Order: sequence, then C-alpha cells, then structure tokens
Amino acid sequence: MTRALELPATQLGPVNSHSACHTAIDRAARPDYRRWLDHVASVRGCERPIRLAGHLHTINPATGEVLSSRPTETLPDGVIYVPCGDRRASVCPACAETYRADTYQLIRAGLVGGKGVPDTVATHPVVFATFTAPTFGAVHTRLVDPKTGKVKPCRMRRSIERCPHGRVMTCPHRHTEASPCLGQPLCSQCYDYDHHVVWNAWAPELWRRTRITADRQLRSLERTYGVRLRLSYAKVAEYQTRGLIHFHALIRLDAIDPADPDTPLPPPLGITAADLDQVITTAAVSTAFTTPPHPSNPDGWLLSWGAQLEVRPVSFTGALTDTAVAGYLAKYASKSTEATGHISARITTDTIGAYADMATHIGRLVRTCWTLGHRPDHEHPADWKATYGRLRRWAHLFGFGGHHTTKSRRYSTTRTALKAARRHWRRVQHHTRRAQHDTANHTDEQTTLIVGNLTFAGIGYRNTGDQWLALTAAAQAREQRQIAKEERNVA
Ligand SMILES: [Zn+2]
Ligand SMILES: [Zn+2]
Ligand SMILES: [Zn+2]
Repeated sequence: MTRALELPATQLGPVNSHSACHTAIDRAARPDYRRWLDHVASVRGCERPIRLAGHLHTINPATGEVLSSRPTETLPDGVIYVPCGDRRASVCPACAETYRADTYQLIRAGLVGGKGVPDTVATHPVVFATFTAPTFGAVHTRLVDPKTGKVKPCRMRRSIERCPHGRVMTCPHRHTEASPCLGQPLCSQCYDYDHHVVWNAWAPELWRRTRITADRQLRSLERTYGVRLRLSYAKVAEYQTRGLIHFHALIRLDAIDPADPDTPLPPPLGITAADLDQVITTAAVSTAFTTPPHPSNPDGWLLSWGAQLEVRPVSFTGALTDTAVAGYLAKYASKSTEATGHISARITTDTIGAYADMATHIGRLVRTCWTLGHRPDHEHPADWKATYGRLRRWAHLFGFGGHHTTKSRRYSTTRTALKAARRHWRRVQHHTRRAQHDTANHTDEQTTLIVGNLTFAGIGYRNTGDQWLALTAAAQAREQRQIAKEERNVA
C-alpha cells in the first residue's frame, strides 16, 4: 500500500469505483510504472486515446535506410497511444484544448502575422461578420438592449395574437440566460421544421455561393484601383439555442502580386474596411438559391441568409481587437450542439427512437432530419446521398454536416504546420533531456525519422484505473506548465 501514497494528487476527484481503485494500485505497484506513465504522457491527458500495434522503424530520411525496427510489444501495454484528436470539449477536454489553442494561433496569425504570415497583414482591412439563419417560426429569445444592457420582453405585440392552432403568439417574459424555453418555438405546429433542417444542411453551400458573389463584387474595386484583390477568411460555425447554425467569419482583404500569388500584400490605402463591409453585405443580401426537389416539397426550399447580418471592422485598438476576435472564434471551435442541450453521436435506426422525442424542439428537429432523409417509396435518385440523404447521416447535428472551422488557403498557416512545429519542439525537448542524461552514448537521432507500420488495436486505456492515473498525471503536468508560464510572465 505504500506505493499508493506516491500517486499524484488528483484534480479529477476521488476514484469512485472499487475496481478502478484496485487496478490503479496494481498499476502503480508495477516496476515499470514510471516507464508506463512516460509512455502514456505523449497523449497529454486524452480521455480516449487510440491504441496502435505493429512495428516502429527508425529511418535515415536521406538514404531511406531502415536503421532499426522494433515491435510495439516491447513497449508498455504492447501498443503506442495516439491522442483521439476530437475537437469537442464535451468528448475530450484535453484534445479540444489543443484544437482551441491551434485555432487561436491560426486565426491570430491571419490578423497580425507570424507563423509564416507576413506582419504587414496587420494593415489590411478586416471585418468580423456574423451570418445568421432566417426565421422559421417565432421562438422564445433573450433580447438585451445594447444601449441600456437591460433584458427586453421576449415577444410583445400591441394586442394578443393567436396562431391558427389557437396558441398565444406573444410572450411578455424577460428570459434569463438559463431559461429552459429559450430557442423553443411558441407554436411547434406553426414552426417550419423541414425548412429549418434543410437550411442547416445547405448552409455550407450558401456560404460558398456568397463567397463567389463577393469575389465578383471585388472586380469593380479592382478596376478602380488597378490592382488584383482577394478575400481571405477564417470562419467558425456556431449552434444557436434554436438549433440553427450561424457562421462567424473574419474576412481580410489582400492584394495579389500575380508573380507570387501566395503572399498576401496590403491593398491600396484608399480601400478601407467600409469598402469591404459593402462587398460582404451586398453579397450576403443578394445570394439565394433553391434546393433540389423533394417528394414532400417538389419546388425545393428557398435558401438565403437571415436579416441579422452583422459586419464590424476589426482593429488593433477599437471595440473589436484582433486578440479578442481570435479568442472568441477559437472558443466556438471546440463546441458543437451543446448550446441546444443536445449532444450525441451519429444516430442509427436502433437509436432514433430514443432521440426523436416529439415532445421537444430538439427531438422534432432530429425526427425531421430522419423523415426527410429517406423516401417512403425507397426510390432514391442517384444524387440522394449527396443531397437529402445527408439529413439522416447528420440528424444528430440537426442537418448541418459541414466543417465547424474552415479557412481559405492563404488566410494563415495550417493546423498540420502547427502540429509539426509542436512535434518538433517536443522532440527537441525530449532529446535535450536525453542528452543531459546520456551524453556518453550519444546518437544523432534528430536526423532520423520514426515511421510506423501500425494497425488499430482499440480505443481508450486498458481500464479505469489506468485512465485515472494517466489523466491525473496529465492534469498535474498541465498545472506545472501553467505555473512555469506564470513565473516566466512575472520575470
Ligand atoms: Zn482526446
Ligand atoms: Zn418567451
Ligand atoms: Zn400554430
């Protein structure tokens, strides 16, 4: 039992299950415990790492020569652990934090430069735009007066209005942020669920067409100034409580040198954020299209943006600074449908019954996706999977199957580049540590490459005791890094 005293103090609460406690003690009592802990530290507190088994080869990248090979059987647990990489904080807090931090770096580099982006981008006109969905029926909302900061009544009319189903369509309440009726329709029968989920499903296409329209709008600015221009952007999708997607986008105007199109140049001084605002607003207002026919709506659904388009300039000093915007967008990158109170994995024929609760708004959204995603006559046209068939696949996301974070190619650096930089930094650290310990037996490993011939062996730790130990150690390491960072800041 004395080994148990060496267990790191937990930030995760007590080990609540008896078996977890036993497996943790067993693990910690093993002679290779430290080696095991070092081995799992590479996933940095991932909740459910992927286990891979096979062979690891050390290669000389210059010659391609295999310097050595070893089976993963020689490693603790006989596998290597790889982080799950899920961006959702509700699934894996540690991987979501990595994703959020990377998103922040990506977005910020596009605003102020760095990470291979020229510093001059800081002088380009930039706007922060929010593209919302139209309304598909009255819902309870929390309205805050921007001038007084006071909450306004939800939905007031001069006289009491009733819908065709006899329901009162006014609501005098000033809802709190925790109010459970937020986002719920005043009459679920009046609410257009079909249009709602179809809008979510085609929102990425609406964005794509809006971009094309905006590019066309740029042509007249190009003619006026005799220069080639391009819009670069980073955008994040966010779920509103009513279960609709909206997009937050940072849009930057670049000038292009045709001889070197990859390097963004500052546009002529005469072009301002107001010109950019004009381009975006015109594109958003004028873009609309109709979806393909569906048995329940042979004319298709008309898709456009909602009236609440918001375009604001971003600057170093104004109300909306680059750091604030980057932080704001990065926060949304690690979220999914949490704001709606629903979170689930992909829905199947076995689980649809549990999720499609017709008594709730979210249940009705899921049910609508499920119904529209399948033809009762089973006569699915060839493009069904790429059109309405997607609604079943994305029912747990209320129809939206697009990427949550996207950026145009030249906006900034890439996630892969950030990952490579992190890996390199860790390798340098590891080798520095190793060199300090092991100067006598020095090999120039920094010039070698490790590649794996690996297959999937499972997900997660081998038992809850292992998980507890690994997550506790990672939490402690995180805390130590934080303390070191604070000390650096003080010094
Ligand atoms: Zn993870
Ligand atoms: Zn209300
Ligand atoms: Zn009604």
